[in-house]
Amino acid sequence: MTGEELAEIRRAAGLTQANLAQRAGIGRHAVSYWENKPRVDRYSWAVQRMGEVLTLPERSPRPSWQEQADAQAEAAFIAQVTRIKARAEAIVAKRRVPCGAKTRKGTPCRCKSEPGKRRCKFHGGMSTGARTPEGIKRIREAQHRRWARWRADKDGTQPPTTPCI
Ligand SMILES: [Zn+2]
Repeated sequence: MTGEELAEIRRAAGLTQANLAQRAGIGRHAVSYWENKPRVDRYSWAVQRMGEVLTLPERSPRPSWQEQADAQAEAAFIAQVTRIKARAEAIVAKRRVPCGAKTRKGTPCRCKSEPGKRRCKFHGGMSTGARTPEGIKRIREAQHRRWARWRADKDGTQPPTTPCI
């Protein structure tokens, strides 16, 4: 079975990579790893788990040393990708950038943002978003106006008359 065939079987079952990963109890990276391989190892841990969700072609009787070595390489690769991703996420969650919100003076705010956020504590960095139905409606309408204005600017047509807050 090739990686492409594995992908076909998954799509035929009506599953996304994330669906399959979740049902098989494996990482999404493991699914994409094998779907991009020229040859899928039926003996690898992740592929065996996928075999419990999908109907895969039968595996050969005994793993060769080559397949065992491949399985080790697979495990190492997936562990590495998972580590790199976790590290990148940790960095993003802690990153503090200049706030830059427009102050009353009209200059950009020079405070550092809250960790992992774009704004400082004075400019919404502590906010967890609108809670009340009115608040949710207000922010939704403000976003509509903001993107309508952006689209109008992009098309080179006149921006709508509604002022942006
Ligand atoms: Zn600020």
